[in-house]
Amino acid sequence: MLIMAGTILVALAGVYVLSPLFKEPKGNLEAELLAETDLDRLLNRKAVVYRNLKDLELEFHMGRLGEADFRRLESGYKAEAAQVLEKLDRLGADEGLDEEIEKAVAGRKARLFAPASANCPACGSGVTPGKKFCPDCGHKL
Ligand SMILES: [Zn+2]
Repeated sequence: MLIMAGTILVALAGVYVLSPLFKEPKGNLEAELLAETDLDRLLNRKAVVYRNLKDLELEFHMGRLGEADFRRLESGYKAEAAQVLEKLDRLGADEGLDEEIEKAVAGRKARLFAPASANCPACGSGVTPGKKFCPDCGHKL
């Protein structure tokens, strides 16, 4: 009886210890590695890049990242996103997503940078947020 109880206990412990190996992968990286088709892989990659972009914006917003670093990293992620989207396009998936993303990114950026660019850094006159050049002195904003 004691031996049987011991055997059951060992078996249960074994199941408990090994169970993480049989669970669904949670991380995007694992999902990416396990994905079977190009489409799966690209969609996962896209999700990763978008999450990175979101994290990046959060870091910047919390002041843990300078604007120069933010812009450099952001353009890197966006370039990667563009590549992924181009490949997805070739596979015939996600039509119209490109525009959707550009719109989403532009919206986020407008919210992030609007207060900072209210005045021209060169002449100090008021500037409409989103404009590329100062209407008074022509300084690049
Ligand atoms: Zn100006």
